[in-house]
Amino acid sequence: MGSKTLIASDVDYDRPGKQQGYLQVPFSDNEAGWAKIYIPITTVKNGEGPTLLVTGGTHGDEFEGCVALMDLAYELRAQQIQGRVIIVPALNLPAVQAGTRLSPLDGQNLNRAYPGKYSGTLTDMIAHYVSSVLLPMTDVFVDIHSGGKSLYFLRCCSIHRVPDGAQFQRMLAVALAWGAPYVFIYADVAGEGLLATGAERMGKVVVGTEMGGGGQCDPEALRMTRNGIHNVMIHLGLLDGTLNRHLDKSVVISAPAEEDYRFAPAHGIYESFFEVGENIEAGTPVGQVHFPERFDRPPERVVAAKSGILVARRFPGTVRQGDCVAVIARPVEEA
Ligand code: CA
Repeated sequence: MGSKTLIASDVDYDRPGKQQGYLQVPFSDNEAGWAKIYIPITTVKNGEGPTLLVTGGTHGDEFEGCVALMDLAYELRAQQIQGRVIIVPALNLPAVQAGTRLSPLDGQNLNRAYPGKYSGTLTDMIAHYVSSVLLPMTDVFVDIHSGGKSLYFLRCCSIHRVPDGAQFQRMLAVALAWGAPYVFIYADVAGEGLLATGAERMGKVVVGTEMGGGGQCDPEALRMTRNGIHNVMIHLGLLDGTLNRHLDKSVVISAPAEEDYRFAPAHGIYESFFEVGENIEAGTPVGQVHFPERFDRPPERVVAAKSGILVARRFPGTVRQGDCVAVIARPVEEA
């Protein structure tokens, strides 16, 4: 690894077999001038084949990937696979420990920190390790997300519509192999620096998920996550077996426009009129914001700009002005 990173790893990615160890990220605070944050990592390698990097806990309030990947890291044996699987169940470990989206140690969002910094904050350095050490050896990157504490999603795989058509088709094929009810083609409405975008620019096959949300460990979302990772490994030829899918084919839906993402007009209590998966007509109110301190102020409605399926809704009752409260997507035909 040389001087590429300040993070030490006690696994050797080139060595065959199964290894479990830690990424040791240098850290310094008021409790310890010289400290390290240890992030568990598992690498499983056997024979020739593709490299799959699977991560959970990019956001610390999204536990579905973290739990499914801890199981996978515990159970997977080298003799089962052809290729290499690198598993990081809690990529932003301090955030997972705190159960918060952002790192409690530097206040940063790991999924806005790409490509990271060689010597920066803890979050910058984790992002930099992913971009400079893990992604270059990766063929397929699966980053497992959900709606966290703020959103509840229709359980889906999520991909960007990347400009390279062949790369997009490979991403779509992996997302369809997962076997979730929906594959959601999403747009970035909340900033730059996503791990997925950075990996896509490196030409990688990148698939995310939105496995429910609400900051919980929903049993159905966990089943779908465990099963989806297994299916992806079969699809890539890493594992023998046949795909175990919930449905014959996932419905592909897309929300490419800014107006597909609806935001709260004011601070208050958000009432969603619909559950995820329901169809909404253009011009229909999807929900409304109530103002508990004002008996004379009627609720303010949030209206769907276009018709479609409600993919995500606000999870907590309270909202601030500008928080996303609804995402509406439409089925698209993909070859
Ligand atoms: Ca997320």
